[in-house]
Amino acid sequence: MLESSCLCGANRVSFEGDISVKMRCHCIDCRKFSGSTNTNNLGLPIAGLKILQGTLKTYTKEVATGNTMTSHFCGDCGSTLYRISSFSDKWVSVMIGGIDGLQTVEDSKADVELFVKYRPSWMAPIEGAKQEEGTWLPEH
Ligand SMILES: [Zn+2]
Ligand SMILES: [Zn+2]
Repeated sequence: MLESSCLCGANRVSFEGDISVKMRCHCIDCRKFSGSTNTNNLGLPIAGLKILQGTLKTYTKEVATGNTMTSHFCGDCGSTLYRISSFSDKWVSVMIGGIDGLQTVEDSKADVELFVKYRPSWMAPIEGAKQEEGTWLPEH
């Protein structure tokens, strides 16, 4: 089981189940909401998501595929802990930076990179990771 928390500590969530995919995303939305060049995420079953403490705010935006992505974030400190797509009610995209414990991040090297067309020229591709020009959708 993984536990995740925001910067101020008011919100805590846990995730149970197997990781279906490890993704790095270079899309412009990921840049904007993270404030960085990309995001790194784990696909986990939504059924295993449990709120342990606090109430996360949500923000929903339509993405290029016509689906929506809803960010779940702390209204006080701004940390986004996970995102849910309208594409599937089965999985949740968990931001690896919020996960507590250093080992999970160590073990979360992406197996697929999305929107590599937006990756800055000074950033190297992840060795062995599938390279996708645009989006990529998991099995329903
Ligand atoms: Zn917070
Ligand atoms: Zn993205």
